[in-house]
Amino acid sequence: MKKTSCSWFCVLPLFLSTGVISAPSESSTTQPCPLEGVEISGGSFQLLKNGQFLEYVCPSGYYPYPVKIRQCKPWGSWSTLQTPNKKIVKKAECKVIQCPGPEDFENGDFWPRKHIYNISEQIFFHCYDGYTLHGSANRICQPSGRWDGFTAICDDGAGHCRDPGIPIGTRKAGRQYRMEDSVTYHCGQGLTLQGSQKRTCMEDGSWSGTEPSCQDSFMYDTSEEVFAAFISSLTETIEGADAENEHNPGEQHKRKIVLDPSGSMNMYLVLDASDSIGKNNFTGAKKCFASLIEKVASYGVNPRYAVVTYATEAKAVVKLSDDQSSDADWVTQQLEKIKYTDHQLKSGTNTKRALMLLYEMMILQESKNDINWNKTRHVIVLMTDGNYNMGGNPVAAIEQIREFLDIGKNRKNPRENYLDVYVFGIGPLVDQEKINDLASKKDGERHVFKVKDMEDLEHVFSLMIDESNTLGLCGIAWGHQKGGKYERQPWHVAINVIRPSAGKETCKGAVVSEYFVLTAAHCFNVDDQAHSIKVDAGGIQNRQVDAVYFHPNYDINKKKAEGIPEFYDYDIALVKLKKKFIFSKDLRPICLPCTEATNRALRLPLSTTCEQQEKELLPEKNVKALFVFEDKNNMLQKEVYIKNGEMKASCEGDARKAQGYEKIKQLSDVVTPRFLCTGGNQPYADPNTCKGDSGGPLIIHKKSRFIQVGVISWGVEDVCKHPNRIPPPHARDFHINLFRVLPWLQEKLKDEDLGFL
Ligand code: MN
Repeated sequence: MKKTSCSWFCVLPLFLSTGVISAPSESSTTQPCPLEGVEISGGSFQLLKNGQFLEYVCPSGYYPYPVKIRQCKPWGSWSTLQTPNKKIVKKAECKVIQCPGPEDFENGDFWPRKHIYNISEQIFFHCYDGYTLHGSANRICQPSGRWDGFTAICDDGAGHCRDPGIPIGTRKAGRQYRMEDSVTYHCGQGLTLQGSQKRTCMEDGSWSGTEPSCQDSFMYDTSEEVFAAFISSLTETIEGADAENEHNPGEQHKRKIVLDPSGSMNMYLVLDASDSIGKNNFTGAKKCFASLIEKVASYGVNPRYAVVTYATEAKAVVKLSDDQSSDADWVTQQLEKIKYTDHQLKSGTNTKRALMLLYEMMILQESKNDINWNKTRHVIVLMTDGNYNMGGNPVAAIEQIREFLDIGKNRKNPRENYLDVYVFGIGPLVDQEKINDLASKKDGERHVFKVKDMEDLEHVFSLMIDESNTLGLCGIAWGHQKGGKYERQPWHVAINVIRPSAGKETCKGAVVSEYFVLTAAHCFNVDDQAHSIKVDAGGIQNRQVDAVYFHPNYDINKKKAEGIPEFYDYDIALVKLKKKFIFSKDLRPICLPCTEATNRALRLPLSTTCEQQEKELLPEKNVKALFVFEDKNNMLQKEVYIKNGEMKASCEGDARKAQGYEKIKQLSDVVTPRFLCTGGNQPYADPNTCKGDSGGPLIIHKKSRFIQVGVISWGVEDVCKHPNRIPPPHARDFHINLFRVLPWLQEKLKDEDLGFL
């Protein structure tokens, strides 16, 4: 057997059933450990990785004591229950989570003074005369066992650097804050120090490294904490990258990112695909990376990407040198192709190899004499549990990268801004010390995160895109929401018309601006009053309507004399609300064609014309689209194909099979150029719209954005009358094509600031 440097995961190689000798793997066939006596009082346990590990689970507000994970030893017994001060206990128990009290506080006082505090308890700090309080004067113990807010520091302004403070739970050595003075921090037994153990007062008055904290094994970062820390640190990096392209690099205040600082940032996404991660965590991590790419693109920044997955071997799914490595969509597509099983036959963990692959890509890029090389910022985002069992310590690879990028060598110009290494601890077996070793340590920033489960992390990454300043952006809907609730159609509204004689009629519509909903004209009668029309949107029922605007050419009775009972040309209307919508993640507008917002959504040049947009969205072929079908409060997206190519004529021709249209002389008497046609069973069997779907949007989903191209108007068959019958091939649906009613939309929405082209 080849000797590799191993962590505690090191096991003998084994023969797989295929007869192939595998590399050091993380699955092993040891004697099973008995389950008698392993129970935890107040909680439960689960076996991981075929009984190799056992994980204790406690109810919220409690943590497993003294350990969370036990390992089944090769001789058939579980690892012992050892407390932080090396005592062995017989039985595990769920203990209540509490926050540690300050070990020490300098130049001030705090109240109440205790060793340990209950969740929701507060602590208050004040400083002695002559000292100013920095940080949070009062802090609350969080359910995670951590304090909210920031370390309280009492400083008199006398040092070259400000007093670095004593984060709660740590002890500090060193009380001099002159230039080049250092302080060191320590944690109590059994706790892991996260951040920098030693910090040095630097010339610019800041401390090197990042503030330390002491972590208990049960502690994790809440999604809110990860979000706040990662986003503020990452956007700093992005804005920094942007500043380099400006003539004013010293400019400090936050401002909009200018488009296309291409080449000034490299983003390396590295994903641990080894056995210890588990398929669900791997899949979740992939989704997180997709959200991250989307987020960065939404800033108008186009970094070059590298995507690497690894287990025993490392695999570059996207290389920096790939032609399309700065094309966010292409990179996302490559990411989607990755499977957890890609590494399954060689499922050791060689984190160093993966990082060395990044190093090799950097060397290659530099050798191409890129003039921007010295100004390129490098952002590494690594998702792993920190446990490696091959290749040696990955910190060595980070050191090589720092060396190559000239970081931390020159004290006058340490270039620390040019490399960020973020590490997200994922999987059941996160080693906090190892992930901390890999991550960057910077003043006022956090680069290492450990979350409780993947859903939390996915939530963080989906939140990244849902920042309040993007709420006005059209056509954004994020599938993932915490607690399994999905809100995928935030523009989708119901319109109710109450008629004294005929009861309630319901249509659908789409929010297109702060005041307007786009729907079908046939939802209303000429004598419907605004006060009898109500809109349900974003969880609020019965919103009041100010007015309904019909397309002036709409007249359902126009061709009655010619034997056409209902004529749907220009079947489109705008409903104006009395009070404007307050956009949120559950309520936001869809994109309209021929607007600047849609150019941005599709990442087209801003000079793209309306005609070019139409070619992009509705090329002359079968075009994939979707509509929303509401079923018992569930909103489902139904995929259809707009027949916009050679199948268009046959699709439209089936209009003759609609009730009342049997005797029309020419097809063009009912199917005007204003319609888009879907339905039928070619090339695929399209689902059909139903009566209540009228007025809803026909949507193109492109580049993760949603653009409305049609309004659902009418269908050949009312398929919902016979829900169990397969619709006949002539069951076609007709939608008003928004590209054909633009002058009217533009005129009615002129005050809505939509930026029509
Ligand atoms: Mn592993």
